Amino acid sequence: MSPLMPALFFGHGNPMNALLSNHYTTQWAAIGASVPRPRAVLCISAHWYIQDSAITISTAPQTIHDFGGFPPELYRVQYPAPGDPALAARVQSLLAPLPVRSDDTWGLDHGAWSVLCKVYPGADVPIVQLSIDATQPPAFHYAVGQRLAPLREEGILIAGSGNLVHNLRAYDWGNSAIPPYPWAISFEQRVRELLQAGDTAPLIAYDTALGQEALLSVPTPEHYLPLLYILGTRAANESVTFPVEGVDGGSISMLAVQLG
Ligand code: ZN
Repeated sequence: MSPLMPALFFGHGNPMNALLSNHYTTQWAAIGASVPRPRAVLCISAHWYIQDSAITISTAPQTIHDFGGFPPELYRVQYPAPGDPALAARVQSLLAPLPVRSDDTWGLDHGAWSVLCKVYPGADVPIVQLSIDATQPPAFHYAVGQRLAPLREEGILIAGSGNLVHNLRAYDWGNSAIPPYPWAISFEQRVRELLQAGDTAPLIAYDTALGQEALLSVPTPEHYLPLLYILGTRAANESVTFPVEGVDGGSISMLAVQLG
C-alpha cells in the first residue's frame, strides 16, 4: 500500500488572492511544494453547492469566474489544469449506490482555481470537482468523505475549499487587516481544539452543538461543509496541523487544515 496522501481543507477567502502575493498565497505555494505530488486533485468547493451529487468529467475543465464586481484582470485569469474522467468514474464507484451525476458543464470554480493556481502554478495536476448536495444534512457530507478515504492510498489529494468562518455581512472588503471579531476567533479556536482532540461529533452537529458563535461564523453551510469531507477521510489518530492561519477582513477565517 502506498503512503497516505495528506488531505487538506483550504480557506479560500477573497478571489483576489489569485492575483495577489500575500501571507496566504505564500503558504498555499509552500503546501504544494511540501506534500507529495498527487496523481490528481479531487476538490470539494463551497461554490459548487447544488441540488444533487455531481462530478466533473471534462478533460479540459473551463475556468469559471463565478463572482461579480471584481477588476477585469480577475476575469482574465485562466487555470488550464486538465480533468481526469477516470478519477471521476472511480469516485462514482466508491460512492455507489449513491447516484453521482456525470457533469460536463461545470469546470473549475473560484473556490478551486483561486487556491490551486498557487498550490500548483504549473496547472499540470489534473483536477476533478465533486459537488456539495445542498439537500443533504451535515452528516451526509461527513459520510461521503469517509467513502472517499481510499483515494488517499491511490495518490489522490482530496482538497476541500471553503472558509471555517465565513460571514460576508460582517466582512470589511476595504480593510483586510481589521481585527477579527471575538466570535470568529472563539469559534475558530473551538474547532481547532475539537480537531486536535479527534472529537468529531460536535463538528458534524456544529449548528446545534457549537452555540451562537457557530450561527455567526457559519450563517450558511456551504463554506463550512467542505471541512466535513476532509474530516471524513481522517485515519485513526492521524495528526492534524494548520499550515495557514489568519482571519481576513474581520470575519473570514483563512485557516487551512491538513491531515497527514
Ligand atoms: Zn467562497
